[in-house]
Amino acid sequence: MINKICLYLSEKILNIIFIFCIFMVCISLIKIYSNKIIFEYINKFEDINIDSIMYTSDKYDMAVYYPITNNAKINNEINNMIKKYVCRIKKDTAYFSPKDKDDKFNLLIEYEVKRLNKNIISFIFIVNYTYKDTFIESNIITKNYNLKTDKEFGLEQLMTDKQIYTDFLCNHAINVITKNKKISEYKKNWLIKDIHNNLLDNFDGYSFSNTHLSLYLNTNKISLEYTNIYEIKIPWKDIKHLLKHNIYLRDDNKKTDDVASKVFNEYENKYDDILYFPAFNVDLSNADKVIALTFDDGPHYKYTEKILNHLEKNNSVATFFVLGTKIDYSKELLNRMVSLGCEIGNHSYNHKLLTKETDDEVINQIESVNTAIKIVTGYDIRAVRPPYGASNEKMNRIIDKPIVLWNIDPQDWKCKDSTKIKNHVVSKAENGSIVLLHDIYESSCDATIMIIDELISKGFKFVTVSQMLDLQNEDTNGIIFTHKKQ
Ligand code: ZN
Repeated sequence: MINKICLYLSEKILNIIFIFCIFMVCISLIKIYSNKIIFEYINKFEDINIDSIMYTSDKYDMAVYYPITNNAKINNEINNMIKKYVCRIKKDTAYFSPKDKDDKFNLLIEYEVKRLNKNIISFIFIVNYTYKDTFIESNIITKNYNLKTDKEFGLEQLMTDKQIYTDFLCNHAINVITKNKKISEYKKNWLIKDIHNNLLDNFDGYSFSNTHLSLYLNTNKISLEYTNIYEIKIPWKDIKHLLKHNIYLRDDNKKTDDVASKVFNEYENKYDDILYFPAFNVDLSNADKVIALTFDDGPHYKYTEKILNHLEKNNSVATFFVLGTKIDYSKELLNRMVSLGCEIGNHSYNHKLLTKETDDEVINQIESVNTAIKIVTGYDIRAVRPPYGASNEKMNRIIDKPIVLWNIDPQDWKCKDSTKIKNHVVSKAENGSIVLLHDIYESSCDATIMIIDELISKGFKFVTVSQMLDLQNEDTNGIIFTHKKQ
């Protein structure tokens, strides 16, 4: 009897052990599978949008760009970081009284996106905060996230032993710096010392693409005069041995499809033919009043589309002076503008005050946007509107296209009341007016819808700025054009 009980119990125990083993195997399989990371090609901008904060006053100018993901927690974190800088410039200038119009603070925050795969994303923010020509802060901030888990994503999740990968990456970086012939010995020594001093927390950031790990060093720490970010790119295939076993490298030669890289890498006189945006046929009689609505600083991922919908509904057109930073995120919107007969104008790459920039920088700021628009839409830009509407003799000489300003400015970036904006524009509208609006604010978008409706009811017809220039019928290259001559 006892024997039987013993046998029964041992059988039970064996069963339990067996089931337990199966269970453990399943758990570890699930673990391995769920930890699996594949490096893969992905359209970087597929599920990411861009937003911006633009502001100008006599005390400071600000252009701050930041990404919008599908993940509210990550958006919130990025917002908080951006807000700190926006608050800082407000605070720093609260009691500041400028001596002249050049006595100003300036904040520019830009970012780059890199992706290791659909979930792992890197944002590389470059912060340039200046007073006149002096840097108060020039910095790089990298944020690496797993979009699926809401969490930050670090090297330790990709690599095995912190001590081993730290040593390897630091030595690798020192090697790369030592071999670089383009930088001075002083700078080299400093960068190497910086790596030694800090060891991996030590780099001023790192980011992940599907082909490379990038390590960054901020040379502004050497001296405020150095404002470059030193990037060390290490191909994943060279550090395969440091990666965790559940990481898979997928070799593919697909090229990135971001316009910015095409502008700088691939564009070689491929586009010899000048082709202007196809004009929407506005049937004009001599008695017609014409007006041009223009929108700066966009496109915006929410509001521009609403404006386009309303223009389409009313068989009307407008001109969008877009920023280069936003083109990669707005390809569909830009092509829709063209298909509706709207005009795309050039508002520079990232909204710098061009009157203070070198000739080369002015050319770069304008040419890069011309090229990007040509790549995306197949058409050439005809009109330029410099940031802040600021131009000078030098710019008129360098920019071989009409510089188009405005003569109705409801200051919609400041006044966020759509009815007030609408009233301002409608009360000032006359034949030949050019209206300045910004399609990055909800209030401006709402105002635009009302403006279109009211002006149509008052007998106005909408034209693009180039149609307005054609109506004025004179050679306009380099001429500041504000409105049609009466
Ligand atoms: Zn602007």
